[in-house]
Amino acid sequence: MNDQTTPWHRKAAELTFDGRALIGGKRVDAIDGATFACISPVDGRRLADVARGNDKDIVAAVAAARAAFEDRRWAGMAPARRKRVLIRFAELLLEHRDELALTETLDMGKPIAASRATDVNAAANTLRWYGEAIDKVYDEIAPTADTSLALITREPVGVVGAIVPWNYPMLMASWKIAPALATGNSVVLKPSEKSPLTALRLGELALEAGLPEGVLNVVPGYGHEAGQALALHMDVDCIAFTGSTRVGKQIMQFAGQSNLKRAWTELGGKSPLIVCADVANLDRAVDAAIGSIFYNQGESCNAPSRLFVESSIKNEFLKRALAKVPEHAPGDPLDPQTAMGALVDDTQLQTVLRYIDAGVSEGAKLLAGGERARVDSGGFYVLPTIFDNVRNDMTIAREEIFGPVLSVLAFDDVAEAVRMANATSYGLQASVWTRDINKAHKVARALRAGTVHVNQYDEDDITVPFGGYKQSGNGRDKSLHALDKYTELKTTWIRLE
Ligand code: NAP
Ligand code: MG
Repeated sequence: MNDQTTPWHRKAAELTFDGRALIGGKRVDAIDGATFACISPVDGRRLADVARGNDKDIVAAVAAARAAFEDRRWAGMAPARRKRVLIRFAELLLEHRDELALTETLDMGKPIAASRATDVNAAANTLRWYGEAIDKVYDEIAPTADTSLALITREPVGVVGAIVPWNYPMLMASWKIAPALATGNSVVLKPSEKSPLTALRLGELALEAGLPEGVLNVVPGYGHEAGQALALHMDVDCIAFTGSTRVGKQIMQFAGQSNLKRAWTELGGKSPLIVCADVANLDRAVDAAIGSIFYNQGESCNAPSRLFVESSIKNEFLKRALAKVPEHAPGDPLDPQTAMGALVDDTQLQTVLRYIDAGVSEGAKLLAGGERARVDSGGFYVLPTIFDNVRNDMTIAREEIFGPVLSVLAFDDVAEAVRMANATSYGLQASVWTRDINKAHKVARALRAGTVHVNQYDEDDITVPFGGYKQSGNGRDKSLHALDKYTELKTTWIRLE
């Protein structure tokens, strides 16, 4: 650690981590004994040696999950009892708020204020919400003739493999495990090798909350080893994946190559934010655009990375936007005042810097940032970056950068803005800003995205589905719709004499 001394630095110095896997309710080393170093992007220090799970560990974890499912130690519990366990699980997250927040910050670089106020709360709320919901969901009886009765019931799919990314490690894990567990499944969770530590703690807290052993197993390891073994496993019934579109395509192939497990993918984005000249509150639009692209160091699947501004207000918009940039300067993630932290690792930093170079060499105009920052810290930081005069066919407008880089494009006619906004292989989120209610509705309908925001960007909670059109994936996390991913519909026909 460097010589800074906020209370968080002192706590960080005392924190220790257990990098072993969790299989069948026990913390275990990888069967081959292999480990990988878990490095903090805050300052480059080694946090822990973490079990490097491979196909053997996945076989053991799936066997534990299968055994737990078959004897119905969890699936057979009344929903009201599963509810109590999930609510207790949520409470335990909040009781361990500081530890979990600090672990998340040290492991993936986001500011402690965000980890503490947002990530822990949102993960706990997800667990609580599905716990509270599950004894209130009814099945159906079909409108058949008097001579028969047809029941339409939901049953758990069985063993769920959950593979999650590193950008919101705890929250993405909770979006998978909460609905999967609520519906009675057993789970094998594979966190990203870049940020495995909070997932391992979640597994322990679930046991403490009363989840039976073997129902939630956590196997850290590399994607091409543990992740691939899970997606190819013949006894996994469903794979719930969040990550890049590139790996999402592989996941669908692995499902097809193995047992046709249900494959759900929540993938990348290149979300457009359209600001019309008749916007009611320009400052609010500026705050939303700048705040949302720089939040979480730009490492958000739904970051509005393409900003379309009507030409007549572009100069004023950019003037106000540039005035906001210093508020997002990268700082020490352990300082509660810091708004932007470190990128997850050196690889991600180099990726972001390469995209910035591509923007410059393809002729976009660099207005802010564009460079690495805080090099002396030993961590991986980049300045919040804005490009003007971007064209929709430039690399920085087409590809997901997953860093704090905003591309600004101008338009003269809103139909043209919609056409450009939709001219992408992604379709995760979109936003339109106008005081004209008719225009807002028309544009919202025309935008091909799983979520469209009107006159705001960051409104979000567990009650609404989250997911994408096109190559942003299939299926939806959050809301009661997520229960569809983890359940089979069964029809039972009963003849009435
Ligand atoms: P990633 O490289 O696709 O990795 C995601 C997960 O897949 C990680 O656990 C990774 O393990 C694993 N993995 C990698 N290769 C694999 C393989 N061959 N087989 C099975 N698993 C494999 O994505 P990321 O860089 O972690 O996350 C960023 C991406 O996630 C962005 O594209 C972002 O937009 C997307 N995302 C989407 C949503 C959404 O809800 N739509 C939410 C958050 C993030 P290792 O990391 O250990 O290799
Ligand atoms: Mg890490």
